[in-house]
Amino acid sequence: MSADADGGIAADEEHLSVSPPKTWAAGLPAVAHAMEYSLSQTSPARTALTLLNLNQVKGFDCPGCAWPESDHRHKNEYCENGAKHINDEATTKRVKRAFFARHSVAELDAQGDMWLNQQGRLTEPMVLRPGATHYAPIAWDEAFDLIAETLNGLGSPDEAMFYTSGRLSNEAAFLLQLFSRAYGTNNLPDCSNMCHESSGSGLGETLGIGKGSVSLDDLHESDLIFVVGQNPGTNHPRMLSALEVAKRNGGRIIAVNPLPEAGLLRFKNPQTPRGVIGNGTKIADQFVHIRAGGDLALFQMLNRLLLEAEDAAPGTVLDHDFIAANTIGFDDFAASVRRVEWDDVLAATGLARAEIEEIHQRVLASRNVIVCWAMGITQHRHGVPTIREIVNFLLLRGNLGRPGAGVCPVRGHSNVQGDRTMGIWEQMPQRFLDALGREFAFTPPTKHGYDSVNGVRAMRDGKASVFIGVAGNFVRAMSDSAVTENALRQCRLTVQISTKLNRSHTVHGETALILPTLGRSDRDVQASGPQYITVEDSMSMVHRSHGKLEPASPHLLSEVAIISRLARRTLGNASAIPWEEFEADYDLIRDSISRVIPDFEDFNQRIKRPAGFRLPNPVNAGVYPTPSGKAVFTVNAFDSLEAPPGHLILQSLRSHDQWNTIPYALNDRYRGIHDARHVVLVNPDDLRDLGLSDRDVVDIVGAWDDGLERRADGFTVVAYPTSRGSAASYYPETNVLVPLDSVAAISNTPTSKGIVVRLEKAWDA
Ligand code: SF4
Repeated sequence: MSADADGGIAADEEHLSVSPPKTWAAGLPAVAHAMEYSLSQTSPARTALTLLNLNQVKGFDCPGCAWPESDHRHKNEYCENGAKHINDEATTKRVKRAFFARHSVAELDAQGDMWLNQQGRLTEPMVLRPGATHYAPIAWDEAFDLIAETLNGLGSPDEAMFYTSGRLSNEAAFLLQLFSRAYGTNNLPDCSNMCHESSGSGLGETLGIGKGSVSLDDLHESDLIFVVGQNPGTNHPRMLSALEVAKRNGGRIIAVNPLPEAGLLRFKNPQTPRGVIGNGTKIADQFVHIRAGGDLALFQMLNRLLLEAEDAAPGTVLDHDFIAANTIGFDDFAASVRRVEWDDVLAATGLARAEIEEIHQRVLASRNVIVCWAMGITQHRHGVPTIREIVNFLLLRGNLGRPGAGVCPVRGHSNVQGDRTMGIWEQMPQRFLDALGREFAFTPPTKHGYDSVNGVRAMRDGKASVFIGVAGNFVRAMSDSAVTENALRQCRLTVQISTKLNRSHTVHGETALILPTLGRSDRDVQASGPQYITVEDSMSMVHRSHGKLEPASPHLLSEVAIISRLARRTLGNASAIPWEEFEADYDLIRDSISRVIPDFEDFNQRIKRPAGFRLPNPVNAGVYPTPSGKAVFTVNAFDSLEAPPGHLILQSLRSHDQWNTIPYALNDRYRGIHDARHVVLVNPDDLRDLGLSDRDVVDIVGAWDDGLERRADGFTVVAYPTSRGSAASYYPETNVLVPLDSVAAISNTPTSKGIVVRLEKAWDA
């Protein structure tokens, strides 16, 4: 197996077969696939141990996604993907020094993402010195000295950046941002910059807090749930259990998506007889087959229809008391949304007027409404305005701060929300910096740092030369793969703190370090005894995670230990921060968190409750921490994605056999794609109009005009029921097509769901 230019598996080594897309998700096949993958990674006994501990009160939190656990935990509190993810981490395969002696970095770089991941857990620190062809072992102390010397030799702390993925625990995240700021920079890019930054921006501006407001109970009690731009069957599978409860309680669900994903249609819960031998539960009462990027237009028209319904029957549609007491900006918003035209909305959404009117009738018939969304909303250039318009929609009928109603951005990475709470953000507010400075007797820098996009620009332009990544696979997660790779290769030093091998180890700076760390499931014992870490899920529940398994190697350090030791070496005696004590006893980190971050009072006591505790969302108490103290209706300019003739709007998406940037296999069984990833899904009518046929091989060519040609070559066309004008292909293979400068307004999130492309027959290229 070998890598192609995009770092994936070469198209000519794939053996595509296609079956009809599934119309239901989970069921017994999900159990069978989970077991098959788990047993390919580790023994039956170890598989049993991981699964018995997964998402249990005294076990470990699933790294798969940020979906919350229910208060009454089932003994199998996990999904197919959770089982795969945890056993991928618990694998008994090992990458040892002999492996690195055998394979040059160039050889490793020629391998695909799947192959790299499948080699197993990293076992000791490795270094790639300038000019060397192979990684070689390095002692921990020497590695820390090397990094500290490089950091201390920079002209400015702003020449370094500290990236995190959402796997990091609260404790490690708090220490990382503390180290970065004590060192002197706010350069803290994270994976949230690439996914839900638009949610934080849109909700922060309108409601005063960039988090979701609903709990699992709210979902269960809701009358009407919108699931917009989201594929729960693959990306947050246990969400389907919550939707099933909502349906059982009489709730209705509207799914809005350019693809009829199996999990949006029907769910066979493998933990119930009905799910095993019956037909399961129909999920979407209405499936809205929207054109990519049409959601802003849809919600604007739904808002206009609500205003018109109120005109027709005054006092019966809008919640005037709520609007008067809790909001500002209604008049300007109402005037603007009344100007939205049907023709524009129908063109932008690709929907029939009757479909939108049907949604409107469902809204009128519902008292409590929730809108859930994910990256189908956030990764568009108008992602922030779309979220603001969703807030307008909910405010009109007072659908905030009461049971069964509210906003629900569904996060992908397990602690991505917690990491932000802990201060992983390049622009934390001054009150946070002041509290941090008070706790540790220093003055944190106030100049905003680099997010992910600006971090790549800085490395590309020579303004940053040290990249330290704690977890994640930055080079594959980021947009504009070729530009990002070149930026990293220009660095003086790249450091990756990782559990397994990935592309970010083979795309490196002049000197590169791999520092192996404990996984979520590994036992973590420090000087004061066994430690646990904490995480915050997508619904603001903070809870413990206890690693249980024998670590993959005796040479691993925890992320907390690595950050603490690196900080001590770098900051030396100039820092009064008790790094050594923090490493020895994570309770001490939590004590500091409780003094710095609001709502973490008595952290060490409250976290001992079996389910942990929920961070309050002020919106649920009728408090809107905006400058005006009110929720804000906003005016959002109409925007829709236009593709010139002969072009399509491409969205990148994950396959079902994939976790973030890492494919576990070449299959995507819900979509009927087998043994291949170089496919592009296109509506049959679009294929006809483009003069293409099912199974043609094409090169996908980006239309962004900045002098760089962006191509993803050798993709097989699959005729698929995507909405007209909308195509789909896999991430990260198509990141190469997303220009670095193509970002969502305000949030700076790469527009990975709205890439204008054309398809060239491969032999024409
Ligand atoms: S829904 Fe997410 S957190 Fe829960 S078991 Fe599945 S992958 Fe893990």
